[in-house]
Amino acid sequence: MNPWCPPELQIHLSERAIKGSEAGELKLESGKVLAADLVIWTGSRPNTEWLQGTELAASLDESGRLKVQGTLQVVGFPNVFAIGDINDVKEEKLGYLATQQGRLTGKNLVALSRNQALTAWTPSGGSRTMLLSLGRYAGAGHVGWIILFSFLVALIKGKDLFTAKARRQLGVA
Ligand SMILES: Cc1cc2nc3c(=O)[nH]c(=O)nc-3n(C[C@H](O)[C@H](O)[C@H](O)COP(=O)(O)OP(=O)(O)OC[C@H]3O[C@@H](n4cnc5c(N)ncnc54)[C@H](O)[C@@H]3O)c2cc1C
Repeated sequence: MNPWCPPELQIHLSERAIKGSEAGELKLESGKVLAADLVIWTGSRPNTEWLQGTELAASLDESGRLKVQGTLQVVGFPNVFAIGDINDVKEEKLGYLATQQGRLTGKNLVALSRNQALTAWTPSGGSRTMLLSLGRYAGAGHVGWIILFSFLVALIKGKDLFTAKARRQLGVA
């Protein structure tokens, strides 16, 4: 039991849930069983099954990610770019990195159309910031290697899940 977490938020480290066990109770590989009203499966595998059977199938790696060159062009398809969680760039998959990849790709599309040299993406090293909201008043997260208190995550992200920031970035605020 972590004294810094509210009682409704408990984080079980080094555990894996058993798929198919979620109706009413969630079984963990360690043998623990948790009561569960709702189970939401998350993971880092992108939803790319539909690309199997297309000409991009050969560009998928074993995790279902699109293999890209340094410029984020899909290997074998210079006119196709893959940005964000779907590509196989070796870095933590984060929203703000996906946004930056989008900006770079915009510039690269212009360069490509003008037969100019493309700029490569510089993968982000190390552990960055990630905030996971658990309702309005709790959460988990880290800034680099610093683990944040639940209430701090709630304070930073819990109010609107950064939707206002995203709207501002898209110019629809
Ligand atoms: C719980 C959690 C917390 C996170 N916290 C942070 C954080 O604090 N900071 C941060 O920077 N990042 C965070 N991330 C990571 C961030 O959300 C992702 O890196 C980011 O959303 C990737 O953007 P994307 O556009 O590549 O993919 P997505 O945002 O996943 O967008 C892909 C879109 O494609 C759609 N789609 C999928 N398949 C199809 C299809 N066949 N046809 C049409 N549409 C389809 C999906 O519905 C989705 O809307 C978090 C992720 C999770 C899961």
